[in-house]
Amino acid sequence: RGTTPVPPDVRPRLTVLSGPSGVGKSTVVAHMRKVHPEVWLSVSATTRKPRPGEKHGVHYFFVSDDEMDKLIANGELLEWAEFAGNRYGTPRAAVTEHLESGVPVLLEIDLQGARQVRESMKDALLVFLAPPSWEELVRRLTGRGTEPPEVIERRLDAARVELEAEPEFDVTLVNTSVEDVARELLALVAVV
Ligand code: 5GP
Repeated sequence: RGTTPVPPDVRPRLTVLSGPSGVGKSTVVAHMRKVHPEVWLSVSATTRKPRPGEKHGVHYFFVSDDEMDKLIANGELLEWAEFAGNRYGTPRAAVTEHLESGVPVLLEIDLQGARQVRESMKDALLVFLAPPSWEELVRRLTGRGTEPPEVIERRLDAARVELEAEPEFDVTLVNTSVEDVARELLALVAVV
């Protein structure tokens, strides 16, 4: 499988990285930001409980169901989605502020969220992170070891559907090596 060539005339400021759960989105993003901290990554709000090591305000804003209801009702989220029993959403204000001051913005969100961004931000660049193979994706999802089997099963179900969305995206990156994909992603994000 090859990576889709990047159209030379694309000038993205808002880049959306999406793809199936377990494909390695957050690993790629973390690697890219270690090398290039100038790229601003949006911090999402979620009703999911923190995993060990996750920090409020860094990995997510961990909110209650009531707080999430309010964020949605007040129009404070650029997009939001329910994923595997929890809600996740992108706070709108911080994204807008960064874009207005010329800072490239990266969102790492699920497919439903990517579709909403496609509708509301026409010039966003949508990047699909694909696994090298289905077997590899299953291996990664099973191997995380932090989730009970029924949660893994729900994530596999979601991943099967998500893989079919690839043609809706502007660019596909195949996650063969973290370093390579992080470099390819940076090239997309940093073109402003
Ligand atoms: P996790 O629970 O593994 O951190 O994330 C589960 C899924 O939710 C991942 O596919 C992740 O990209 C997605 N996600 C994280 N934040 C957001 C968000 O703000 N909006 C949407 N739509 N999806 C998100």
